[in-house]
Amino acid sequence: MNPFDLIIVGGGPIGIACALEAKKKGLSHLIIEKGCIANSLYNYPLNMQFFSTSEKLEIDDIPFISKEAKPKRNEALEYYRRIVTSNELNIHLFEKVEAITKVLDTFEVVTSKSEYKAKNIVIATGFYDLPNLINVPGEELPKVSHYYKDPHYFAKQKLAVIGASNSAVDAALECYRKGAEVTMVIRGPEIGKRVKYWVRPDILNRIEEGSIKAYYNSTLKEILPKALIIETEEGMIKIENDHVLALTGYMPNFEFLRKLGVHLSDDDNLYPQYDENTMETNIEGLYLAGVICGGMDTHLWFIENSRVHAATIVKAILEKVDR
Ligand SMILES: Cc1cc2nc3c(=O)[nH]c(=O)nc-3n(C[C@H](O)[C@H](O)[C@H](O)COP(=O)(O)OP(=O)(O)OC[C@H]3O[C@@H](n4cnc5c(N)ncnc54)[C@H](O)[C@@H]3O)c2cc1C
Repeated sequence: MNPFDLIIVGGGPIGIACALEAKKKGLSHLIIEKGCIANSLYNYPLNMQFFSTSEKLEIDDIPFISKEAKPKRNEALEYYRRIVTSNELNIHLFEKVEAITKVLDTFEVVTSKSEYKAKNIVIATGFYDLPNLINVPGEELPKVSHYYKDPHYFAKQKLAVIGASNSAVDAALECYRKGAEVTMVIRGPEIGKRVKYWVRPDILNRIEEGSIKAYYNSTLKEILPKALIIETEEGMIKIENDHVLALTGYMPNFEFLRKLGVHLSDDDNLYPQYDENTMETNIEGLYLAGVICGGMDTHLWFIENSRVHAATIVKAILEKVDR
């Protein structure tokens, strides 16, 4: 079995960009994706609208036409899927990469279905698979979810939304508008500063008029089958509750990076080590691309600013071949 020039772990927008660039530059490639094409985007809320305008999500200048300036989730799925199919990118779906070891100058990749060899590896596994747990009793109850999909389910229900970032605010507003009784539990003193500028006034007004109840400077202490215990500025309170959306962010799979031997910073951010000029990690031939590059700072890299990683990596690989 000849090794691939490049195996890309993760078939999200950035993994797809890497594959397209590799193909254009004559490198043999394989994307291995544990779910469907652009699996993270597929799992985003059904009505989700990107904060980026569509041209900023384009890869390789392939036009992304959307109905409104900022595309919806289903339009992005259409766009990235068409890039994979029209360009006949080599992608294996529903196949999880479980281990990668380097033997001399070749990587051996073991997946849930098979084994492969590659001269270079790109890790583009994103951050959406592992939620930041709140670690309180009751978090494992079936009424708790760390992913929000659709508001209909919560109509006429007492819903608590934990968090104050874009995901939490979008969920709170959508569910309120479908008839849920929404309470937000917010650790800090205000709605997140990075909340989309056109959404922030909406949530602030709903809170001010009392349509959505918000507990600021508050933490969830316990989730009970029919209630929540919250520590607020006025002391501990108990509120009735049917469902909890714990939307407190997600994190990259650091265990996977550690197993590969990628160095992580000693601080809480766990920044992976890589050379910004090539995206190569401390392991020669192993590159990082996309949101995973930011460690716990998952807002540092997104599609808009990390799509360039594809060209950087392929250029670095080709320069090595030329040397
Ligand atoms: C609600 C929301 C809205 C957003 N809006 C925007 C926006 O407007 N503009 C913008 O630029 N960014 C936006 N982002 C961020 C953006 O979606 C991510 O930065 C982007 O998905 C990163 O792409 P990626 O390819 O690095 O990772 P991902 O899209 O997360 O892709 C990683 C892929 O790797 C796969 N994978 C993981 N582990 C394995 C394994 N072991 N084996 C095989 N496959 C594996 C996953 O299934 C996944 O498909 C948004 C994010 C969220 C959550």
